[in-house]
Amino acid sequence: MSFLTVALTAPAERVKVRIFSTNRIESVNVSFDLGTYDLYAGDSLLEPALGEGLSVILHAAAGGVHVAVNDYEYGTFKEVSLRATDTACILCLNPRNVKQRTYEGNLVVNTINSTALKLVNDVDFETYLAGVVQSEIYGKEPEIFRVQAVISRTWALRNMDKHRNDGYNFCDHVHCQAYLNRCVRPDIMLGTIQSMGETIVDADGHLIETPFHSNSGGQTANSEDVWRTALPYLRSVADTFSYGMKQSTWTKVVNRDKWLSYFAKNHKVDLGVDSLRDTLLHFSQPQRRTKLCGVPLTRIRNDFQLKSTFFSVEPDSVGNTVVLHGRGYGHGVGLSQEGTIRMVALGYGYDDIIRHYYTGASVHRDNATPKGYVANYVEEIKQIIETDRQQPGKVKSKKDDWLGQLFRLRDRQEREEVYDPAKQEVEGEWDYQW
Ligand SMILES: [Zn+2]
Repeated sequence: MSFLTVALTAPAERVKVRIFSTNRIESVNVSFDLGTYDLYAGDSLLEPALGEGLSVILHAAAGGVHVAVNDYEYGTFKEVSLRATDTACILCLNPRNVKQRTYEGNLVVNTINSTALKLVNDVDFETYLAGVVQSEIYGKEPEIFRVQAVISRTWALRNMDKHRNDGYNFCDHVHCQAYLNRCVRPDIMLGTIQSMGETIVDADGHLIETPFHSNSGGQTANSEDVWRTALPYLRSVADTFSYGMKQSTWTKVVNRDKWLSYFAKNHKVDLGVDSLRDTLLHFSQPQRRTKLCGVPLTRIRNDFQLKSTFFSVEPDSVGNTVVLHGRGYGHGVGLSQEGTIRMVALGYGYDDIIRHYYTGASVHRDNATPKGYVANYVEEIKQIIETDRQQPGKVKSKKDDWLGQLFRLRDRQEREEVYDPAKQEVEGEWDYQW
C-alpha cells in the first residue's frame, strides 16, 4: 500500500460552531469561569481583559447586539465578540430560557432579523472534538473516547463546508454532531488528543462516512438496507459485543387491530390472505431482514417510533395486542457505541474496533496535521487524571477543572524555566508572618 494515494484533507486548526442552534436566544448573560476575554465590537476593542466577577449581557435589538457589562451600557453593534486572551479561558453562557453551558475559545455574536442572537463558538478543532465526544458517547476508558474522536474527526473533515452558506462550519445539534458543552473531563480530552491526526479511510485512502448508533442488537445493518447507497465499508457484521448492554433489547406492546390495520390501510396488505396475516402476527428475525410483508422495516420503525428495525412480533391473544421484542437501538449501520464500550472492556484496541465495524477501512495517521495546543500537555493531563483517581469525589471549584489545573501546571513550568538565581534577592522579598 502506498501512502501517496491518501487523499489530503485541508488541515483544520480552528472551527466555527453555531451553539444553541436549536434554541431561540433573545438574550444571554456571559460570565468568565477561567482566564480573561477582550470584548470587541466588529474589530474595535471595547474593553480589554474582562474576567471573574463581571458579566456581559447581550441581547438582540434593532440594529444588532446590545451590549452591557455589569450595569454599564456600551450600545448596540452589528457584531460583538469575546476573544480569549489565552488558551486557558472558559466562558459560561447563560441564556434566559435554556440551561447554561460553558465553552472555550472565542464567542462571536450577531443577530437574526434583530430579534434573536446567533452565537458562534470560534474554537480550536481538537477542543471542539473533545466536546463532541463528551456529548456523543458515555464510558470511562480513554480508548472509548479515542474511537469516538476518530469517527467524529473523520466526519468533521468530510463536512467542513456543511454550513458554509450560514457563515460557520457546524451547528451543535445532531444535524452535524452534538456539541453541548466544552469537554469537562480530562480522560475524554486525553482520548481525543491521543488520536490527533487520525481519520478512517477506505481501501483507496479516502475519508469514509462514519455512521454510528447506540447498539446493533447483535448484528449491524448494510447501508443500503437503511439508506439508498451501498457502501463497501458499511456491511452487516455479526456483533455479539452489543449483547448485554443498556440498549441491547426492548419491548413494545401495540394494539393488535392498530398493528394489522396499519399494514392493510397504509400498505395495502390483504389481511384476507391467511399467510400474510399470519406473518404479520408471527414475525421473526434470527438475522436482520429488511421488510415485513413487503413493507420496509425502516418505515415501520419510523411510523411506530421503534428503537430499531431488528424486532420480532408475537400476538398476545389475552390482551388483544401484539408484542414486539426488539434488539438494539438506532439505525444499526456502522459502529455500535455500546459494542465499542464492550470491546474496550475486553481489551480490544481502538483500531481493531474501527476495523470490526467499518469493513475494509483502516485508521490513517497524518503526522503533518497541525496539533492543537492541548497536544503539548499529554503528560500533564495524564497526571491530572491520576490525581483524580487517587482522590475520587473530591469537590472541586470551577478553577480546579482540568483545564485550570493544566494551566497552573504550565504556568509553574514557565516560571521554573525563567528562574534566574541572580534575581533571588529581588524575588526574596517575602512578607513573612510567623
Ligand atoms: Zn448542522
